[in-house]
Amino acid sequence: MVPVVAFAESAEQAYQKARDAYYALQNSSRKQMYREQWERVFDKFESVHERFPENKRGADALYMCGKTVTGLYGISRIKPDAERAVELFEEMADTYPDSSLSDDALFHAGEMLEEILADRQRAYLVFQRLVSALPRGDMHNKASARLKALAEYAPQPKQAPVEAVVAKSETSSSVVESVTQGSSVSNQLTSIRHWSNPGYTRIVIDVTGETQFSTNYLAPEPAKNIPPRLYVDIERTGLDEKLPEITIVDDGLLRRIRTGTPQDGTVRVVLDLQSIGDYKVFPLVDPWRIVIDIAGDKSPELKQNEATISALPESGNDDIAKVLKETPKTPPVLHIRKAPETGVLRRIVVDAGHGGKDPGAVGPSGVLEKNVTLKLAKELARELTRQIGCEVILTRSTDVYLPLEERTAIANKVGADLFISLHANANKSRKAFGIETYYLNFSKNDKAAAVAARENGTSLKQVSDLELILFDLMANAKINESSRLAAEIQKSLVYSISKKYSNIRDLGVRQGPFYVLLGATMPSVLVETAFISHPREEKRLISSAYQKSAAQAIAAAIKEYAVSNKLIASR
Ligand SMILES: [Zn+2]
Repeated sequence: MVPVVAFAESAEQAYQKARDAYYALQNSSRKQMYREQWERVFDKFESVHERFPENKRGADALYMCGKTVTGLYGISRIKPDAERAVELFEEMADTYPDSSLSDDALFHAGEMLEEILADRQRAYLVFQRLVSALPRGDMHNKASARLKALAEYAPQPKQAPVEAVVAKSETSSSVVESVTQGSSVSNQLTSIRHWSNPGYTRIVIDVTGETQFSTNYLAPEPAKNIPPRLYVDIERTGLDEKLPEITIVDDGLLRRIRTGTPQDGTVRVVLDLQSIGDYKVFPLVDPWRIVIDIAGDKSPELKQNEATISALPESGNDDIAKVLKETPKTPPVLHIRKAPETGVLRRIVVDAGHGGKDPGAVGPSGVLEKNVTLKLAKELARELTRQIGCEVILTRSTDVYLPLEERTAIANKVGADLFISLHANANKSRKAFGIETYYLNFSKNDKAAAVAARENGTSLKQVSDLELILFDLMANAKINESSRLAAEIQKSLVYSISKKYSNIRDLGVRQGPFYVLLGATMPSVLVETAFISHPREEKRLISSAYQKSAAQAIAAAIKEYAVSNKLIASR
């Protein structure tokens, strides 16, 4: 028998394991896309720090906790991650003032405060602390230089920038005037639109041109009865005078929207929240606008309820929330409105791609995608009513322009059970042809990314930025259901159309980051019914026979999907 001897792992061994995991993650851009991978590395370092607090490696591990969350922020780009990294670095410097890494920790904290969180006053204080408390550190000179550059942010008796704006926008009407006098204004904030959905709220800020903006989250202060707040500062922008200073929303997530000008040339949009699970802020182009999606927090009694739209992925994210202390200690009272009951297919939203000033793709003989999709949508609506008998709502029934974010918002608003966006494909090569169906996810290949870029009206670079946004927002998406629905539609389209037409190519089900599907809370797909850029398929797309065949096939697929998911009773 082999004697059982429990060798306690040494601090050094445990630290090396955590470090190996850290470098493995640094070397895998694929793994980096997943929050739980960062959590895993974080947990390893945290455990070293907790088990060996007195050891030098305990100090190193806490420093690496800060580095890991900094890396996570690099992917997620959500402010709570950056704030947490700052906290960890500060905690490290507080706990281990004698460690050779504590000045590096403070320097990173100051750097993040200055460059990412744009909190220059706090950055100043951190650099000041580094310079005065750790004069022998190798970061001393760099910190001194930063301190000099930030001199104007040296603390003054009055600060608390947000509260200042809050007070200003609530008490004074001279806010607008001060902006118009500013010389640095090059854009106007013209309107703020918002849509309330079960479990999440979307706010869109319309600005006349591209601008820099920064986002900040302020945690709730239950003792002072201050709710969580989110604010966006938009640079070189003025406020339209007609815009209300306060808009009451009160939808269970968002209490109200306020606007103000913290300084000349900067507009601040403050969201007073009722509860928050996660949020994402991203720009859309043509026209330029800033989208804020706020997902709700889940109250414990709603956790088992499948019908409730979840804001966070099931188990993993709850853990990181705990670890990263993102969950407020006393969760606010929630009034999440229940999502439509599952088990019935009652309402389908059919989206005719493009419209109005956005023609979509243009065929070789001049056929416009927006006209093809509208006819197809109307045909599909008829077929769905005939075959399933459910309610069908079109996002547009005429040739009008509709921003992408509004299309999903409509589907969410009417409590749709499915969202089907109809399109015609295009390629620089006139030889490309076939049928493909998409659902929202990371694009697996360059072709899918190119289709997403075209449908989004963005560049490929912006598509890769969008994938970083997806990283967080996909928690809301019904990915599995969407992929099943896409598979049914693709199969049915290829099968039925091949019976009547020759040269039908099955390009399969694909995934990509489509703006139009982003934020949909129901299974949603985008169908590329044929290539408008291919002369043969362009001709087919405008024929009512082809449109009818395609609509019949899509409707049959939806019926099949509904039956197999027991959403309707019979075939
Ligand atoms: Zn399209």
